[in-house]
Amino acid sequence: MGKPFEIVVLSGKGGTGKTSITAAFALLAENAVITDCDVDAADLHLILSPVVYKSENFASGSKAVIDRERCTACGFCPELCRFEAIEFKNNGYYVDEYACEGCGLCKEVCPVGAVNILKYENNRIYFSNSRFGPMVYGKLGIAEENSGRLVSRIRQYAQETAKKTRARYILTDGPPGIGCPVISSVTGSDLVIAVTEPTRSGWHDLQRLIEMTGRFKTPVLVIINKYDLNKDMTITIENNLKGKGIKVSGKIPYDETMIRSLLEGKTINEFKPHGTIAYELSRIWEAIV
Ligand code: SF4
Ligand code: SF4
Repeated sequence: MGKPFEIVVLSGKGGTGKTSITAAFALLAENAVITDCDVDAADLHLILSPVVYKSENFASGSKAVIDRERCTACGFCPELCRFEAIEFKNNGYYVDEYACEGCGLCKEVCPVGAVNILKYENNRIYFSNSRFGPMVYGKLGIAEENSGRLVSRIRQYAQETAKKTRARYILTDGPPGIGCPVISSVTGSDLVIAVTEPTRSGWHDLQRLIEMTGRFKTPVLVIINKYDLNKDMTITIENNLKGKGIKVSGKIPYDETMIRSLLEGKTINEFKPHGTIAYELSRIWEAIV
């Protein structure tokens, strides 16, 4: 079996139904490794209820700490730190942890060994089995910022799991927006499914997302969620996308059962298997595969 086909479900912002749609695709895929790369607000596990069999810390970066007992206040390190992270305060030098990039230069130059570089291990990666297959997901620690590296590591583990389980797909609930973690989730993937809503801001966010994915030459399909809440805007989005050569692979109507299924920890295809949304998502999935 060749390399699994990597699908990333993205949206220009949170709250567009991205996670509900990913969960439904996880059910429909039958042979996928599922990942949640929305590490700032991972919630796919709330629907898929995976059983975690292993977890590990992931260090996203390092920070310098000055031992004030040892420091002779020679002034070398604050002069050399190009991030201006070392300040003089209360009669001594200290490192501003938000400014420090953990480059380690201060440790190298300190003549009295007063600087320690500490690894931040606040992030966690979970290995689990869900009712639709193996699932790897992560959570960013409090005040952690480098989520792009965490996303890359989750994807690497998902690829290893897919190889072991001979999965056909890797299905990822991606982070919202167009920042560093989104770039990490798109790089090297085979298909982006962009979920949007028929609003001006939805269209604006979608355009930025399409521009970003275009840089990686990853094909994009679009799903318009709650399309019937603003049919004119839906038509505008469809026409604009046509002009860019991008296909709208499906339109999902507004239905409050989508939220009710979430609250019950079920995919919409389990909660209302004969409903319009379940039918439409099954049709979209068939078209994708
Ligand atoms: S580790 Fe680098 S960025 Fe942090 S305080 Fe030292 S020199 Fe500055
Ligand atoms: S180089 Fe070492 S001794 Fe000098 S100010 Fe920095 S921490 Fe203190």
